Amino acid sequence: MRTTPENLLAADASLEKVATGAQWAEGPVWIPAREAVRFSDIPGNRILEYREATGALEVYAADAEFTNGRALDRDGAVIQCSHGRRAVERDTGTAANAVPAVSTLVDSYNGRRLNSPNDVVVKSDGTIWFSDPSYGIQKDTEGHPGREEYGDRYVFRFDPASGELTPAVIDVEVPNGLAFSPDESILYVSDTSLGTPAMDGGPRLHGHGIHAYDVVQGRFARNGRTFAEVGPGVPDGFRVDVHGNLWSSAKDGVQVFSPTGERILRIPVPETVSNVCFGGNDGATLYLTASTSLYRIRTAVTDAAAALRP
Ligand code: MG
Repeated sequence: MRTTPENLLAADASLEKVATGAQWAEGPVWIPAREAVRFSDIPGNRILEYREATGALEVYAADAEFTNGRALDRDGAVIQCSHGRRAVERDTGTAANAVPAVSTLVDSYNGRRLNSPNDVVVKSDGTIWFSDPSYGIQKDTEGHPGREEYGDRYVFRFDPASGELTPAVIDVEVPNGLAFSPDESILYVSDTSLGTPAMDGGPRLHGHGIHAYDVVQGRFARNGRTFAEVGPGVPDGFRVDVHGNLWSSAKDGVQVFSPTGERILRIPVPETVSNVCFGGNDGATLYLTASTSLYRIRTAVTDAAAALRP
């Protein structure tokens, strides 16, 4: 079924604020066995969970080294970004009563520390693609101040089977959110730099838009071009649904773009949206982290990446 603006949301959909009290909420992921949305309170340096069955907001981990974006891997473990450890990590604490069990997957490139991994997506072949801007080494409220050791800000592809880390996208000024199209032939990368979305005449795409790349041989990102301009504010995290529509964060709410880059829906939100995820037992509830709070709205779609997991 082709989606239209009229059938992206459930017929009775309305935005609901379900939790608040974070300093800055980001990095949501739905964890099925816990029936919970796990997300980061980055300046609060803690990981929170909203339990859907009880409506309770619980502290999953404190002193959490400034985690940010999350995704599930092929085994259902949480892959998370840590500003504080400048690492991408794996947390197997996903069973109903589990506690954190975190191991480092990757924290350096050619012997130099990563900047501060921000957001992550897991491809159906098990490889982990993540953005590495510098927000988590700029000020002590989001990590530990430090310098860019490899001298740039890339999207990397990490293969946990081989341990190989390779730059996948090197021409986005400030890479941030990322996701694949449903057939994984396109990689979308948001750019949270403040310029105008355009080629600047040099090798670098820049500006607060979302860029699209062709995924070649399952491992290279080529032919970067601007997919959509997002405003007001910047596009931070986003997800792609099974029909290929892209659900992006923005300053004024959630903005949904069709596979051709046309903005087809705006969902106004009273706080600045940082990231979104699909969740709920049927996968059709969109949860969104926005400034201090967690919101949700019922949709008529589910996540493309979830459809590819075993
Ligand atoms: Mg982000």
